[in-house]
Amino acid sequence: MQYRKMGSLDWEVSALGFGCMRLPARRFSLMGADLEESKRIIRYGIDRGINYIDTAWPYHLGESEKVVGETLRDGYREKVKLVTKLPMFLVRRTADFERFLNVQLERLQTDHVDIYLFHALNAGSFQKVKQLGLIEKMEEAQRQGRICHVGFSFHDTYPVFKEILDYYDWDMAQIQYNYMDTCVQATTEGLEYAHDKGVAVVIMEPVKGGTLASPPREAADVIEDAAVKRTPVDWALQFLWNRPEVATVLSGMSNMQQVVENCDSADRSGINSLNGEENQVISRLAEIYQNKILVPCTGCEYCMPCPHGVNIPQNFAILNNFSLEKSWIRRFQTRRAYRKLTSGPPKLDLDNPNGNASVCINCGLCVEKCPQEIDIPVELERVNAILGKGDSIRKYYPDIS
Ligand code: SF4
Ligand code: SF4
Repeated sequence: MQYRKMGSLDWEVSALGFGCMRLPARRFSLMGADLEESKRIIRYGIDRGINYIDTAWPYHLGESEKVVGETLRDGYREKVKLVTKLPMFLVRRTADFERFLNVQLERLQTDHVDIYLFHALNAGSFQKVKQLGLIEKMEEAQRQGRICHVGFSFHDTYPVFKEILDYYDWDMAQIQYNYMDTCVQATTEGLEYAHDKGVAVVIMEPVKGGTLASPPREAADVIEDAAVKRTPVDWALQFLWNRPEVATVLSGMSNMQQVVENCDSADRSGINSLNGEENQVISRLAEIYQNKILVPCTGCEYCMPCPHGVNIPQNFAILNNFSLEKSWIRRFQTRRAYRKLTSGPPKLDLDNPNGNASVCINCGLCVEKCPQEIDIPVELERVNAILGKGDSIRKYYPDIS
């Protein structure tokens, strides 16, 4: 494992961090985590040198923190920095801070977290942080030894990111960044600005919710023709580790193979290790993807569960796959995957949402939860028009190549 500077903090962080948002799924459960398999893969990662574990209140509907708590028994807690987040979308009053932190420490079976984040800050939730005096609550918990460091994860635009960074002396900031997202959300400018201020920058969505792991044919050709042989995921990760501003890269790993491959990639990582030719390969890949993705959904599931049973991220993933496919047979298969989702009772399952886009009643409950600011009901209508009724992609996305 390679280790890197963690901003201005006095410890070094593993190049790869374990994101516990996409743990192995429990059988017959869409969002539940399999404790034994999760424990096995997280402990393997720690044994390979990962020293940074990231979780949050809503991951796996609360099960992620519990699984992490169990996993870090038997001496593993002392080997890692443990990070979780205050669920800002559920915070209504100042007293909620204590309520959530107490439950989280209990779930995590620990008396402190190494970094506590405000989860998914944007312009609106940052106002809430200020109005409710939540930074003061963070400082109080720090004095009590229940939190070591203070940070935030972020989903908004660069001006908002800069405003938040300038407001307080943060220890770390977690941003969405990958070779496709250099100009959206915090942007490269934000990454550099935070680093210049001595704030540790932690990267989430390094493979854009898996999108960069499954390249369309043109991108696969570019990867195949490259002089240096790498997997699509390795290209995406090395792009990040190449940058001196990046502290650690969080990968939400779901099986042992991913953990092994990502640890191997991290072992080979280094700042400024990519040459001009390799950087050109990445630019070409970014260009190809940019022209293909219809809905910028990362599969984070913050919008879930939909009370009407729509599996929102799955509908978007199918549409994006449909757009990425060239061959008619693969497109046929992708359309069939859409039809396998149900269009209403009697097969609709509200506990494990399996509804296709036609089930959406446009109630709007999901919209403000989406960190990517996707107009979910509008995009779902397009999904159903394209995959359900057979309309052309160009009718709704005229600029797509
Ligand atoms: S707008 Fe549609 S997808 Fe969103 S919560 Fe309502 S029914 Fe579900
Ligand atoms: S629609 Fe938005 S909130 Fe829902 S999974 Fe996609 S990115 Fe996440």
